[in-house]
Amino acid sequence: MSTSWDPVLARRLRRGLPLTVLGQVGLPAPLSRLLVLGRSDGGPRGRASLAAVLVPSFQDGTALLSVFGLGRHPAAIRVPTRLGRLPVRPAPGEGLFVLDRTGAARFLVAPGIARYLTASCGLWPILRPLLGGQAPPRPLAGIAEDLDAFCELLDVLLETVYREEGAEPPSVDLVLRVTEASVETALAGFRRLGQATDEVRSRLAPGSGPLPPPLPPADEAITFDDVGGQDAARAEMEAICLAVRRPEAFKAWGTRPPRGVLLHGPPGTGKTLLARALANESGARFFHVRATDVVSKWYGEAEQRLQQIFDQARSQAPSVIFFDEIDALARERELAHEATHRIVSTFLENLDGLRENEGVIVLAATNRLRAVDDALLRPGRFDRIVEVPLPTTEGRRAILHIHLDHARRRAGRELFEPLAESDWEALLDATHGFSGADLAEVVRRVLEARVRSGSTSGLIRSGELVMAAEGLAQRA
Ligand code: ATP
Repeated sequence: MSTSWDPVLARRLRRGLPLTVLGQVGLPAPLSRLLVLGRSDGGPRGRASLAAVLVPSFQDGTALLSVFGLGRHPAAIRVPTRLGRLPVRPAPGEGLFVLDRTGAARFLVAPGIARYLTASCGLWPILRPLLGGQAPPRPLAGIAEDLDAFCELLDVLLETVYREEGAEPPSVDLVLRVTEASVETALAGFRRLGQATDEVRSRLAPGSGPLPPPLPPADEAITFDDVGGQDAARAEMEAICLAVRRPEAFKAWGTRPPRGVLLHGPPGTGKTLLARALANESGARFFHVRATDVVSKWYGEAEQRLQQIFDQARSQAPSVIFFDEIDALARERELAHEATHRIVSTFLENLDGLRENEGVIVLAATNRLRAVDDALLRPGRFDRIVEVPLPTTEGRRAILHIHLDHARRRAGRELFEPLAESDWEALLDATHGFSGADLAEVVRRVLEARVRSGSTSGLIRSGELVMAAEGLAQRA
C-alpha cells in the first residue's frame, strides 16, 4: 500500500474545505474498505480535520456488539504498536496518539465501532460516535508535513493489520485529493451504524443517555513540554499523571495516589498550564472551576453547581478538576456567611468522598498559600503542596524557547534571527523577575509590532525582543 497526496489538496485545505471524501478504496480480507475524509476552516488561523476509517470485512452478525465487550471480541484488528518513524504514546483506553515533532498529539489511532480502526484528528460532529476519542485539529500552517505523516501512518496501519493477520498487504496506490465522491453516500452507512450504536448503548446501560459530549479540543493539546522552567513542579505532575492513568500501580505497592494537589506561586508562573498539561497527557477530562465564580457568580446555586461538577467528573473519569484561586473559598468562610459554610462543606465532603480508584484528581491553585483554609490542607485532602515559583534564568530561557517555537509553528516559517549567546544574555538580563506569562507577552508584543508595521516577511532581531522586555519591565 502506498498513499500520497495531491498538492492541490493542501491548497484547498488552506482555503477552507467542507467535509469531503479524499479517497476510498476496496481492500482484500481481513479489511474490506478504506475511506478517507477531510475538512478545514481555512484562513490564517484555520485548522484541518483528517480521518481514515479502515473497515473490516464482516464475517458474523455480532460485530456491532463487540465494542461493548459482547459478542465476538474484535480480535481481528488490534491497534498496532509499531508505527514506523512516527513517535506514539498510548491514549488510555482508546488507542495510540501519533505525535508531532513537539510531542503533541497529532493523530489518534483508535478502534471505532464495529471493529473499525480509525486514524483521525480534528472535529467530527456527526461521526464522533464512529471515531471515538479525538486528537485536536491540525493548524493549516504545517499541513504539508501533516499530510505526509498521515499518509505514512495509513501505510503503516494497513501493513500492520495485514501482517498481524498473516496476510500479504495489498499493493494499492491511493492518492488523497479533493474527489467528486459524495460524502452523503460514503457516510450514510456509517451514520446509520453510529445511530444504532447509540441505541444499543442506551439499552445496555439504562439511564446512561446519549454519548457524552466530545472532549473539548484539548485546549491546543497542551503538554508538559509546553511548560518551561518548572522542573520540580513538572516532575510532581508527571507522577500524578501516573495516578490518573494507572491507579492500580499504587495499589500494587500498598499505597494510594494523591487525592488533591495544591499548586502555589506568583501569578502567571504556569499553574493553569501544568493542570491542563496533566489532563491532556493523562487523557483525562478537564474541569476548570474558578473558586471566585463559586462564591460570587454562582451565589445561591453554588452547592448544586459544585456537586454537579464532582458528579460529572466521577461519571466521566478519568478526570481532573482544577480549582483556580482556591483561597477565595477560605476567604469567604472567614466572613462566616452561612451559605459559604455550606459551599466549603460540600467541597470537603466531595473531596473526602472520592474513592482511591475513581480516577478523579483534584488540583487547586493559589497565589496566597497562607490564605488557604487549614481544613483543606489536612492529610487526605490537598496533601501534596507544590511550589510553582518565578522562573530562574535558565527557566526563562526555556520558556522563551517554547514561545518562540510556538510562534514559528503557528506561522509555519522561521520568524527570528538566530540568537547568539550574547543576545541571550541581554535578553535574560532584561527579563529578570519576569513570570512565564510576562515572557509570553514579550514575544506577543514583538510579533504584534511586526503585524502593525504591515510587513509580511523578514526576521525579527534579538534587539526587538530586548526592547519589548524593557518596555514591559517599565510598565510594571
Ligand atoms: P494565575 O495564578 O494568575 O492564575 P498561572 O500560574 O495559572 O497564573 P498560567 O495561566 O498557567 O499561569 O500562565 C498564563 C500564560 O503564561 C500561559 O498560558 C503561558 O502562555 C504563559 N506561561 C506561564 N508560565 C509558563 C511556563 N512555565 N512555561 C511556558 N509558558 C508559561
